[in-house]
Amino acid sequence: MSNLFDARVLSVHHWTDRLFSFTTTRDPGFRYQSGQFTMIGLMVDGRPLLRAYSMVSPHYEETLEFLSIKVQDGPLTSRLQHVRPGDTVVVGRKASGTLLLQNLLPGGTLWLLATGTGLAPFMSAIRDPEVYERFDKVVLVHGCRQVSELAYDQLITHELPKNEFFGEQVSRQLLYYPTVTRESFRHQGRIPTLLETGKLCHDLGLPPLDATRDRFMLCGSPGMLKDTRALLDKLGLAEGNMSHPGHYVIERAFVDK
Ligand SMILES: Cc1cc2nc3c(=O)[nH]c(=O)nc-3n(C[C@H](O)[C@H](O)[C@H](O)COP(=O)(O)OP(=O)(O)OC[C@H]3O[C@@H](n4cnc5c(N)ncnc54)[C@H](O)[C@@H]3O)c2cc1C
Repeated sequence: MSNLFDARVLSVHHWTDRLFSFTTTRDPGFRYQSGQFTMIGLMVDGRPLLRAYSMVSPHYEETLEFLSIKVQDGPLTSRLQHVRPGDTVVVGRKASGTLLLQNLLPGGTLWLLATGTGLAPFMSAIRDPEVYERFDKVVLVHGCRQVSELAYDQLITHELPKNEFFGEQVSRQLLYYPTVTRESFRHQGRIPTLLETGKLCHDLGLPPLDATRDRFMLCGSPGMLKDTRALLDKLGLAEGNMSHPGHYVIERAFVDK
């Protein structure tokens, strides 16, 4: 069996001139856990042109969803941004990644810290009932430059609390904190700064960060990851992995070349 399957594009949504999302059919044999990524792409000159993408869709959904940047001269996304319903994308059968509940020590509050398309893996996590069973509070922080880049904000704020299966858990346990850096908005500033100054905890009505309670998943730009990791290390928190669960786990939202 090939390590790739063909997925048919079902819908496309353009959020901005730099950001879009799309849904596809899903091979029933393709399994993944919340927070994981796989390789997806297009056939170009008879060969697959692939890049890593996190699944936005929850692991139990019949269809797949991806959130994508548009890099104008990017080998894949200069093409991928033009997909339309009915087109074919190729999807890798093997999902992987570190943003897994099992890589974290038990705790009370799960912080999901994302910038840009780093939101993608957390869109599957916040629709996973197990996340709400493991943690009392789940805090989703999404940092972008502009308000228009706060993808899925309406879904998070208005639709998830009404979900017939886990809407009640969302209403009670999920806190959403969108923040922008280049426009005025109700929350402004970079994630590491908001954490370090205590503003994030204060705005959310949460106590100061505490190694015995707080657990973190980070997915974003190299700058956000570097600065947030330094802050967490300073607080005495340890990074987790498959063999040793820790206080935080990190996934890059992209690699700067
Ligand atoms: C583990 C992992 C998961 C990823 N998940 C996603 C995802 O869910 N959605 C997504 O859009 N991308 C994701 N990426 C990035 C993705 O793999 C590609 O880099 C992206 O699709 C651009 O591909 P490209 O061929 O057009 O350009 P590339 O040659 O891959 O990238 C060109 C340049 O564009 C910039 N860039 C690339 N991706 C991004 C991005 N997402 N945000 C901001 N700047 C970027 C970088 O500076 C990079 O050097 C992920 C990367 C990794 C490592």
